[in-house]
Amino acid sequence: MPHPTFPRPDALLFDMDGTLTEPRLDFPQMKIDMGIGPGPILESLAELTDSDRVRAEAVLHRHEEDAAAESALNEGCRELLNFIRQGAWPTALITRNSRRSVETVLARHDLSFPVIVTREDCPHKPHPDPIHLACRQLNVAAVNAWMIGDGRYDIEAGLAAGAKTVWISHGRRPEFTAVPWQTIRNLFELTTLLRKCL
Ligand SMILES: [Mg+2]
Repeated sequence: MPHPTFPRPDALLFDMDGTLTEPRLDFPQMKIDMGIGPGPILESLAELTDSDRVRAEAVLHRHEEDAAAESALNEGCRELLNFIRQGAWPTALITRNSRRSVETVLARHDLSFPVIVTREDCPHKPHPDPIHLACRQLNVAAVNAWMIGDGRYDIEAGLAAGAKTVWISHGRRPEFTAVPWQTIRNLFELTTLLRKCL
């Protein structure tokens, strides 16, 4: 039986934490340390008074820096990135993390991406803006790009931008209602998926 094939994506847009790197941010502990409630961190920060926000942001940066400095790549990441390089796919990194923590992770693992969109650049995921921004910079249409991530915001942002969405489940059940275009378990399966596009 022939393998199913997929149209070749014009660009691959990646989340960072939990997608390329092992998930290392302890969100519940971060929220306690930051003195915010159980809701999403960046949205909760926006509701604080100026002085509380400055203090909470400092805690957030410390957690992000610690995680970045100790980060490890997910299994299959090197193989995937080598395959992507051979295929000459344009890539972008799109994250809710700070630019500083992204730079720490990339330097630690000797990685580079032609386009990097962090929370400092525009409204962050699940807003579609970072995906549109990355696609503009790569000169591709969002509809022909894949947004690849392990979180609900990756899928929600990808869908909102009109991109194809690939959710990395790590064997989990989805705890969100957005429906990804493809669900895969890990980065090895992403390489397999991309082979079907050649
Ligand atoms: Mg993630």
